[in-house]
Amino acid sequence: MPNSAIPFDNTYARDLPGFYQPCQPATVREPVLLFFNHGLAEELRLGLTGQDDAALAAMFSGNALPEGAQPIAQAYSGHQFGQFNPQLGDGRALLIGEVIDRQGRRRDIAFKGSGRTPYSRRGDGKAAVGPMLREVLIGEAMHALGIPTTRALAVVSSGEPVFRERTLPGAILTRVAASHLRVGTFQYFAAHGTPEKVGQLADYAIARHFPELAGSEERYLGFLRAVAERQAALIAQWMHVGFIHGVMNTDNMGIPGESIDFGPCAFMEAYDPRAVFSSIDEMGRYAYEAQPRIARWNLARLAETLLPLIADNEGRAIELTTEVIDAFMGRYQQHWLDGVRAKLGLRGMVEHADHVDTALGESWLDLLHAQQVDFTLAWRRLADAAEGNEAPLRALFAGQPGLDRWLERWCERCAAEDTDPAAASARAGSMRRVNPWLIPRNHRVEEALAAASDEGDLAPFEQLLNALRRPFDEDPALARYAEPASGDFMAEFRTFCGT
Ligand code: AMP
Ligand code: MG
Repeated sequence: MPNSAIPFDNTYARDLPGFYQPCQPATVREPVLLFFNHGLAEELRLGLTGQDDAALAAMFSGNALPEGAQPIAQAYSGHQFGQFNPQLGDGRALLIGEVIDRQGRRRDIAFKGSGRTPYSRRGDGKAAVGPMLREVLIGEAMHALGIPTTRALAVVSSGEPVFRERTLPGAILTRVAASHLRVGTFQYFAAHGTPEKVGQLADYAIARHFPELAGSEERYLGFLRAVAERQAALIAQWMHVGFIHGVMNTDNMGIPGESIDFGPCAFMEAYDPRAVFSSIDEMGRYAYEAQPRIARWNLARLAETLLPLIADNEGRAIELTTEVIDAFMGRYQQHWLDGVRAKLGLRGMVEHADHVDTALGESWLDLLHAQQVDFTLAWRRLADAAEGNEAPLRALFAGQPGLDRWLERWCERCAAEDTDPAAASARAGSMRRVNPWLIPRNHRVEEALAAASDEGDLAPFEQLLNALRRPFDEDPALARYAEPASGDFMAEFRTFCGT
């Protein structure tokens, strides 16, 4: 097989010796390409055009690594459900290298499910077809929704079984990320290393993700603030599409502010702030409404690792970082408000708009909660109501008095902004650009993954993936993907960590 010419430039391996262990992927019996993201490969300038499926399968299973790849397992720790675990690390993942994409951004290319590593503990280092295709669907859906996310480049089935509660077909995912630096990476070097090590890691993260801070005296505090800002923006975006990550451990919170690790995640259907689907989240620690608070908690863990870098006097360092952590909820609230305003079709041009619009958004959500209305459909049909077509929206609600009162308030608020009759259709149009018609509906995701995993039938997965690529365009031919799952399905629905 001709070797490809992927232009790797592996800074993590080069600049951070001691932060990882070199490790080769396991070879697999019979690699078959299940998915390849040609658009992303193009964006990454991988130079793989002309490679056939067999060559891509060999490459992205680890059987024939492309030239210049330098596979390493990264070290990290993490708080898992609040408990500190000092020894995690890439137990079934390998960073194989970094490239610069067409826009000049450095991106990691990493395997998941490529066999045991020095950090595998008792795990087998493997992954199954279903959860890896799930990474594809959720990552591509998030990307199409405009939410920062890691994305799948390839999924290759291994031709080997993996042993879980039942025997499943094995697979390797190739994941692309702005980087795989996590809060847990900092925790590892704070727990096992020295402040100098944490400083080295922070300088690396700053150079890579926040270059505007490099060289500044107060760069470590600035770094904390910048990471917090990206999380505030990210979590607000999650909340506005009803995304529940499901396992917001500190090792699953990325420094670059991308959504990462789609094991037990789910999209909410009927609105319920306490919604939680993960089978292992018995206490609801990572429920929908808890996400901003958990992000803040995780950031406090990051702050702890940075204390010795921020000031020689620990008391002073705590004071400075506490200010940043305390500002988080306000920053989150601002992003949430900007988002809710766009979803309501408003621009914020009235007196006391912040107060009025927050109250309007919150009372709308209260209404959805009280009547267990489908979150996605309600927002989408509000755009129809903006144009005077209220019937589709009304059909979602059993009782109408609360809805009538709320619609009146909303119409008044819209009118305060502009009275021009032409504004209605412009408003509806802008609402349709932020309120998706399509999200990955849990029953459709499960159906597609079951067909792929149990019957080797990829057609439902491919059709669903195509639909998810255009979430804001209403298309009657795709109506089955926009339908909510039945109440019975959602009552039973549980997600599992993708192990
Ligand atoms: P996750 O819940 O996927 O974020 O993983 C948490 C930790 O468990 C990470 O250190 C993973 O590398 C490790 N891990 C998860 N599954 C496996 C597996 N099958 N084999 C080895 N390590 C694993
Ligand atoms: Mg993880």
